[in-house]
Amino acid sequence: MKRRNFFRSGLAGAAGITLMGNRALAGARTTDEGEVIYRTLGKTGLRLPVVSFGVMRSDNSSLVRAAYEGGMKLFDTAHGYMNGRNEEMLGGFFSTLPRESFVVATKVKPAGVDSRTGLPSKDTTAGSFLSMFNLSLSRLKVEYVDILYMHSADTVEMVRHKETVKTMLDLKKQGRVRFIGVSTHKNEPLVINTMVEDGIWDVVLTSYNYRQTYLADMNSAIERAAASGLGVVAMKTLAGGWLDKERTRPVNVQAAIRWVLSNPNVHTTIPGITAFDQLETDLKIMKDIVLTEKEKAELTAEASFPGLYCNACSNCVPGCPNNLPIPELMRAYMYAYGYHNAAMASELVSETGVKAEPCAGCDTCNARCVRGFDIRNKISDISRLVNVPYDLLA
Ligand code: SF4
Ligand code: SF4
Repeated sequence: MKRRNFFRSGLAGAAGITLMGNRALAGARTTDEGEVIYRTLGKTGLRLPVVSFGVMRSDNSSLVRAAYEGGMKLFDTAHGYMNGRNEEMLGGFFSTLPRESFVVATKVKPAGVDSRTGLPSKDTTAGSFLSMFNLSLSRLKVEYVDILYMHSADTVEMVRHKETVKTMLDLKKQGRVRFIGVSTHKNEPLVINTMVEDGIWDVVLTSYNYRQTYLADMNSAIERAAASGLGVVAMKTLAGGWLDKERTRPVNVQAAIRWVLSNPNVHTTIPGITAFDQLETDLKIMKDIVLTEKEKAELTAEASFPGLYCNACSNCVPGCPNNLPIPELMRAYMYAYGYHNAAMASELVSETGVKAEPCAGCDTCNARCVRGFDIRNKISDISRLVNVPYDLLA
């Protein structure tokens, strides 16, 4: 759906608001609040619609503006998305708005993180984290960000990485960051429980979806987080978006997001949005989160397919004599075929340091996937990116 049709369809919120100036827009959006379902992001006190904008793969400021005009408030990006162009696009949009009318979250990964161990490597310094944050702030054209996440922490050591934590706390004291958090898509229950124990964090951004194989642990960690006052934001809610590489079987988006929101301890979600028809669906969910029996049955049926989503449980890893970073390679596969984003996939493959065809020479694959992935074939497929120059993809 193109922007023009989107607004014709009346899904952009109050009629005619797109023609108003920005201050009028902020006012018009307030009148729409009765319909939008809000939750409070833990102790931050931020009142947010239950669906927010995962900007990661969007370079279209018209789409972001339409979401804002439709009532979305939180826009989630990261220092590394699209080599910085994602933050720059948002910055151009934010510069036209009253600062208090939107909430922006960005993520910075401590430099030199070892993707095998999840630990910051020796060359990580608070200085590099700080300089990346400063660059993010200037790209976003704001004086402060509302939420700064340590990006992609998978271990206790990383959540407690002293220099990074100190830098984040200092930024909060200085008012350049309102709230600090951690994003995680591997070992999430461990990361969340560590955050609760440490008591210094405001928000967790975690993978959470109907396909995860350790939902009991996830649910109890999320419950503990919310009870402790942490704001809980869910990502990877669409579990890859597609059930097959050829993209003939889509995940039921509406059902998947409603399933996540059926957990009252989740305060908002950040599905990735790249097109107006997706935005249309997300804006509908923002006002109606009741998961129907039919949708529940569809999700149950979908769960029997392997799909594209690897929940990074690492159950397969001990079976691989070459100790390949299988969860990361499976995630790259999802980026390539589920998200159709070869650049993101290439970045992740390159971070792992694997060469093309890393399984060559291994007679039998003993790495068994709990979801039934053909791990060897997927690795062979995705590792081809090693030989494609990044500038052809980005
Ligand atoms: S085929 Fe590849 S993934 Fe499977 S066990 Fe051998 S090296 Fe590991
Ligand atoms: S490939 Fe399968 S077993 Fe391995 S981490 Fe992913 S979901 Fe778990």
